[in-house]
Amino acid sequence: MKVDCLIVGSGLAGLCFAETLFQNGRSFAVISDDSQSASEVAGGLYNPLILKRFTLAFQAAKQLDYALPFYAEIEKRLGQQFDYKQEVVRILHEPAEQNRWFEARDRLGYERFMDDALLQNATPQIKAPHKLARVLETGRLDTAAFRAAYRQWLEAQGLLIQERLEYDRLETGADVLRYGEIRGFASRVCRRVWLERESVFQPFAPSGVEGRIAHYSRS
Ligand SMILES: Cc1cc2nc3c(=O)[nH]c(=O)nc-3n(C[C@H](O)[C@H](O)[C@H](O)COP(=O)(O)OP(=O)(O)OC[C@H]3O[C@@H](n4cnc5c(N)ncnc54)[C@H](O)[C@@H]3O)c2cc1C
Repeated sequence: MKVDCLIVGSGLAGLCFAETLFQNGRSFAVISDDSQSASEVAGGLYNPLILKRFTLAFQAAKQLDYALPFYAEIEKRLGQQFDYKQEVVRILHEPAEQNRWFEARDRLGYERFMDDALLQNATPQIKAPHKLARVLETGRLDTAAFRAAYRQWLEAQGLLIQERLEYDRLETGADVLRYGEIRGFASRVCRRVWLERESVFQPFAPSGVEGRIAHYSRS
């Protein structure tokens, strides 16, 4: 089997990278042990607004516009729901905070994520005499269910190798990569360059990333 990419890790990052390659017609395999995974225990909450200062998260609109259709596509293919709407409200502690909420909402691009009506608190256990403000377009990704379903799909395609990759066992040469039973071909070491060159990743291209992209086969 020859693939474009060998992905190490089947947490959210590895699986989303796998899906991106899949949606763009690239071949891949995922090697992952189950030693630990933040994605297994994560709350999975997504919230575009930083509640302390009422500022938007980095590229909030762009991230949501990208992520939600991305997960919807996977839900459709795998026939399972992972994305659930989850309300997020902020307790306003004083009238000045109510003013700050509306001042923030007047900023360009904020109206989409900040409700213009304040809510009365209906939960007797919570003290909120100055009302609640609702963040819009919040939700929760069931990360454990997503991970389980995606891994199952990978396994059915023969694309999941369940073992630990020991980095010091990787042997790289000019055009060959070996890893135990895995024989690679035309391996190359890249520093940022590959991610930056691929148009699909350009909106989110991280800086300072170092990665190894390999063509490989299992013997
Ligand atoms: C308790 C908790 C709550 C969180 N809540 C939220 C939240 O509400 N909202 C939010 O946005 N984020 C949340 N996060 C953060 C978010 O979950 C993580 O940023 C994200 O899941 C990380 O995904 P990952 O793929 O980078 O890493 P991981 O999920 O840790 O996946 C890494 C994978 O790589 C595998 N691996 C590592 N080394 C090797 C190797 N050498 N060979 C083979 N496999 C290997 C591991 O076994 C694992 O499967 C939370 C995190 C935690 C811990």
